[in-house]
Amino acid sequence: MNVKEKEIEYVKNGKRVDGRKIDELRPIKIDVGVIDRADGSCYLEWGQNKIMAAVYGPREALPKHIQNPYRALVNYHYRMATFSVPDRKSPKPGRREMEISKVSGEALEKAIFLEKYPNTTIDVFVEILDSNAGTRVAGLAAASVALADAGIPMKDIVAAVGVGKIAGEVVLDLNKTEEDAPDAVDIPIAILPRTEEIVLLQMDGLLKLDEWKKALKMGIEGCKKVYELQKTALRKAYLEAEKEEKVKENAK
Ligand code: UDP
Repeated sequence: MNVKEKEIEYVKNGKRVDGRKIDELRPIKIDVGVIDRADGSCYLEWGQNKIMAAVYGPREALPKHIQNPYRALVNYHYRMATFSVPDRKSPKPGRREMEISKVSGEALEKAIFLEKYPNTTIDVFVEILDSNAGTRVAGLAAASVALADAGIPMKDIVAAVGVGKIAGEVVLDLNKTEEDAPDAVDIPIAILPRTEEIVLLQMDGLLKLDEWKKALKMGIEGCKKVYELQKTALRKAYLEAEKEEKVKENAK
């Protein structure tokens, strides 16, 4: 631990370094249908995180030998822009990006009715434009909204959040300063909110059993808050599209 870390009081009188309560999310803004070329898309801001997600498909899987005659394949591409982090990131996808792409794609597969689209791929692109911890969960939340925007049939929207422990306290949605705290624990979690099925769960650090139970409960509640914001954004986009359609009809 260096001197600077020692000086930070991560939780003081129930307030965190950025003034949030223990179980408070950073501000989240979601815009649907922002990329015309894509079949579905979403722009999401989550605190300082800025993320663009675009979905293409289901479309024929090529080359043909990758096709699965029983279901669609999900190709999830998580990328961090070189300018999204303080030290320039190599544009080449690293191990971290490959791992996040794999686990996030698997999480989405749990939500999509893949068997409806044999021999196809659903390509999901998630570009992190600005970052401050929690980008994999924010990316997954954005990707799920983009899938819904593309009209891909799903059991539910995947909702995701980070939860963890800093300075002995279980907290929701850690920012970068908190993630870098000594002995911090970070747990990205994603669920299908209606059934509470967990579709992504990772953990960096150690927790006692009672802390884990508290963290899981806080994580699920956090996911449900994100879920409400995702649904509100989708509803808003579709009501606006309906209105535009009506105006066009009337002008004919
Ligand atoms: N980060 C960075 N350089 C990198 C990877 C990550 O500066 O090459 C930062 C970035 O702000 C990211 C944070 O570290 O959001 C936490 O990264 P982590 O691997 O825990 O993933 P995340 O919390 O973003 O899902």
